[in-house]
Amino acid sequence: METKSILIDNVTIIGNELKKGSVLIENDKIIEINGKTGQRDAEIIINGEKKVLMPGLVNTHTHLSMSLLRGLADDLPLNTWLNDYIWPVEANLTGEYCYAGALLACVEMIKSGTTTFNDMYFFMDDVAKAVDEAGLRGTLCHGMIDLGDEEKRKAEFKETLRIIEKCHDTAEGRIKVTFGPHAPYTCSRELLEEVRKKADKMGLKIHIHVSETEFEVQQIIEAHGARPFEYLDEIGFLGNDVIAAHAVWLSDKEINIIKEKGVNLSHNPASNMKLASGISPVSKLIDAGVNTSLGTDGAASNNNLDMIKEMKIATLLQKVNTMDSTVLPADKVFEMATINGARALGLQDEIGTIKTGKKADLVLLDMKAPHLTPFRHPMSHLVYAANGNDVDTVICNGEILMQNRELKVLDEAEVIELAENAAEELLSRS
Ligand SMILES: [Zn+2]
Repeated sequence: METKSILIDNVTIIGNELKKGSVLIENDKIIEINGKTGQRDAEIIINGEKKVLMPGLVNTHTHLSMSLLRGLADDLPLNTWLNDYIWPVEANLTGEYCYAGALLACVEMIKSGTTTFNDMYFFMDDVAKAVDEAGLRGTLCHGMIDLGDEEKRKAEFKETLRIIEKCHDTAEGRIKVTFGPHAPYTCSRELLEEVRKKADKMGLKIHIHVSETEFEVQQIIEAHGARPFEYLDEIGFLGNDVIAAHAVWLSDKEINIIKEKGVNLSHNPASNMKLASGISPVSKLIDAGVNTSLGTDGAASNNNLDMIKEMKIATLLQKVNTMDSTVLPADKVFEMATINGARALGLQDEIGTIKTGKKADLVLLDMKAPHLTPFRHPMSHLVYAANGNDVDTVICNGEILMQNRELKVLDEAEVIELAENAAEELLSRS
């Protein structure tokens, strides 16, 4: 293979002890970080002046193809939103629609600095195709729901195993597959136990929604006589290979269980606020030593996939919730969006920080903007003043996906048209 080299010169670096210097990439990896500027020994040289370099953001809970459902129904309680709007439309989904929605989400993620994500949905081989074409890194799972029906359970395992077989460890290793039991209230105990057994055997991770609403906690207490994380612990489901999304309603006992079992959490503040689900006790979880990462959830309940905005929402929500402006400072919420996410996905040795030997998943932000002036504290600007539109250049796995806000791998106008048509067709069928 031919060696490909990219030098990012004279740049302000976030997440590395060296505050300013240059980063050299060879093929898919960062091979050197130094304090020199003006070097010329690379095929592609990117001038990093007045720019900030950060690791690609990691979105640990989303549903890419739901971007087609963006703006479909807002300002509703979760149950009405799901039962009356989202699920009826989802009943008409096809692989083609999911591909179009996933491609749109990939463009949105690239344009707002996310290079890795954790996705749960349907027609995941079509989603994988979009992710492969987009050049991003993603962990995918088929969302399994059996509602206690044995036939449905069998079908869900069949589809999950098909996706694992077809997609796991594809696209130069950028795509991984996990098990995706939807939630303890939509999955039977049998399904959850079988997932645990198979995940152990195959060495794959588990992605699940837990305790998003208070209503769902009551349902689990009525059905199993225990709170969701207690119940999941009792049946031997929990472990450090589990990524649990939301975790809004937690007792102190449950926080201890989460910590003890090394469960990884994905906090989704915008979605939780929009659906009035509640406030996850994130600052408490982080103090307790729980690996808490950040996710946007799907675009139908956020309504975008901008992880830079999500960082600000996360920290502001914790401050007002605790009435303490010192909780979840900028650098901590930045860790949630980068290295904690990488750790949740088991990729902490490959991504999440800017280090020699790690994968070249890097994002440059343009700081020459009125809302980022004066160019003072990069971390403060990034979390409190910036948004996804400030992302200038994105590299994933050593490949330039966007430079000077222009997509290099996908055709933005084509993807928007494809998604627009797919969304219109999907709604007309529903
Ligand atoms: Zn979700």
